[in-house]
Amino acid sequence: MSTRNAAAEKLLLQMVDDYTTREVAPLDMAIDHAQDFPEGYLQQLTQTGFLGLMLPQEFGGAGFGPEVTATVLNHLARGNASTAVTLEGHYKTLDQILKFGTPALQQQLLPSATQRIFAFSMTEASGGSNPMGISSTATREGDHWVINGDKIMITNGGLAQVYCVLVKTAPTELSVFVVDQDMPGFSFGKREDFIGLRGTPVGEIVMDHIIVDDDHLLGKVGDGGLIGDSAHDDARILMGAVLTGIMEHELKIATDYAKERKAGQTPLTELQVTHRKVADIAMRKETTKLLYERAAQLKAAGQPYSEEAAMAKAHGSRAAVAAGDDALQILAGYGYSREYPVEHLIRDARAMEIAEGTVEKMRSAIATAEFHK
Ligand SMILES: Cc1cc2nc3c(=O)[nH]c(=O)nc-3n(C[C@H](O)[C@H](O)[C@H](O)COP(=O)(O)OP(=O)(O)OC[C@H]3O[C@@H](n4cnc5c(N)ncnc54)[C@H](O)[C@@H]3O)c2cc1C
Repeated sequence: MSTRNAAAEKLLLQMVDDYTTREVAPLDMAIDHAQDFPEGYLQQLTQTGFLGLMLPQEFGGAGFGPEVTATVLNHLARGNASTAVTLEGHYKTLDQILKFGTPALQQQLLPSATQRIFAFSMTEASGGSNPMGISSTATREGDHWVINGDKIMITNGGLAQVYCVLVKTAPTELSVFVVDQDMPGFSFGKREDFIGLRGTPVGEIVMDHIIVDDDHLLGKVGDGGLIGDSAHDDARILMGAVLTGIMEHELKIATDYAKERKAGQTPLTELQVTHRKVADIAMRKETTKLLYERAAQLKAAGQPYSEEAAMAKAHGSRAAVAAGDDALQILAGYGYSREYPVEHLIRDARAMEIAEGTVEKMRSAIATAEFHK
């Protein structure tokens, strides 16, 4: 359970809001168009302390709990969703090292996590929704492990320096190891040309005979499925927060525009068709916010949160796409233009119907949880 310091949290959120307004939001369109963060942008984010936000103080972090961490990403996503998703990929990975890493591994890696980005990689060409389909292996040789394989579509792939990797330790046995880009045999592959979240690099790593010791195993041999699910649960809370931020952005664009624009002599704000769309965007935003906050509260209280986290992302991702569609229609021709941000917010939100488990898989998980009640 996390202990909370209301004054510190208030100060942090004020700082994040100022930072988002000053340093993040003005670059939102440029990040999408360039398909990258500008030079020096991530260094500044790092220097400001964002990487260590949820890392316990014993490792040099700020030690904020799940609710505040999610809220920070929510606020950042109001300015730029890619920035928040790059941090989401980092935080969910740190969470798994904190939950499953040996004390030696934690001491070795986590102090550097305030300066280095971490990533979690499960997906391969042969296995996305079906982790058992992966081909990467870790083979025991003497007193160490030898890792071979090719991981694709990793959030922060190519940017991150440390990777948790899901591999097979036997034909039907999954395990997770931690590898570092400095290890012999490690190399980067291609970066995906994805349609949304275009600032966040999503890319490939190749592992060719990487040798690691037992300390680089997370949990026990065979815990891969459990750790992968845990990473998804943690990521889904944060994605619910990011999606809420996207909807807040969509709502602001739609309401600002409706206040200025007239249909003939009638302001858009007086048309019932506008009311319907704005109300729907606001309700979608608020329901997603409640869902991610609830999941974060359960996590902070040490209670199960898997189903609520899946709901936050499954509901929030479709809601943010639909909300973007309504916002686009209010702006009409301008909404359809790449000179306005609405279209890229739809593309950004759409990624989260796929990343961290598809909505189809999440619905199955939610239904299964309900059947077991
Ligand atoms: C922006 C982005 C970031 C990503 N970041 C990461 C990352 O950091 N780490 C990582 O490991 N991966 C990452 N991924 C990959 C992502 O996790 C996979 O794309 C996802 O798990 C789906 O796998 P797939 O693309 O192979 O699709 P498939 O598994 O081939 O699915 C194809 C279709 O079949 C459906 N389907 C498959 N199995 C089932 C089932 N059992 N029940 C119902 N429907 C099913 C799917 O829902 C989908 O519609 C990222 C993807 C994106 C888009």
